[in-house]
Amino acid sequence: MMVDAQLIPRGISDSRVLEAMRNVPRHLFVPESMKDSAYADMAMAIGENQTISQPYMVAIMTELLGLAGDEKVLEIGTGSGYQAALLAALAKEVHTIERIAALSERAADKFRELGIENISTHIGDGTLGLAEYAPFDRIIITAATPEIPAPLLGQLKDGGFIVVPVGERFSQTLIKGTKTDKMLLKEYHTACVFVPLIGEFGWKGQ
Ligand code: SAH
Repeated sequence: MMVDAQLIPRGISDSRVLEAMRNVPRHLFVPESMKDSAYADMAMAIGENQTISQPYMVAIMTELLGLAGDEKVLEIGTGSGYQAALLAALAKEVHTIERIAALSERAADKFRELGIENISTHIGDGTLGLAEYAPFDRIIITAATPEIPAPLLGQLKDGGFIVVPVGERFSQTLIKGTKTDKMLLKEYHTACVFVPLIGEFGWKGQ
């Protein structure tokens, strides 16, 4: 239903992404009280003032990553863990970092429950990246940032992609950047609204 009603009509066409979105159980990543509307066309609160993105936004970001199956991916903003579970189905190795420990631990429990073994969860400021696991083939930031954090560009492979909502506090544009010869070639995609990326190279404070 979600895939046929919300994703295909809006232009999501990568068959691997569509298949993963049919298979990953989104209802297990939303709060118990929201289970009935887990597949609805909207973002949802997941506690700690954070949200799980609307299915379409998850789909477009995932499609823009252009995953073939052999990549090492870094996600900033684990949140519920839903996006990371999708990435795990589409890539080889996923590292996901979250600044709120309670969310990270809850997501790690879900991955264990589902038997997903190719995700490593990390707690900390994702704007600094994860130097010890770099370089990454793909980086996805699932929180809004005023600019792309410099450390992340340093940890992206040449030829790699980064997908990130960049802009102001309450309105951003989804950007796909391709790293070539230490430059970042940018493509501008849909308008969006994400919760803020808070950290040394994002927004400061709450
Ligand atoms: N990808 C998530 C949605 C994330 S919402 C999902 O599928 O559910 C954005 C998340 O980014 C929030 O959980 C927030 O706590 C986290 N976040 C914000 N700033 C961060 C930072 N500097 N490092 C890591 N995580 C951060």
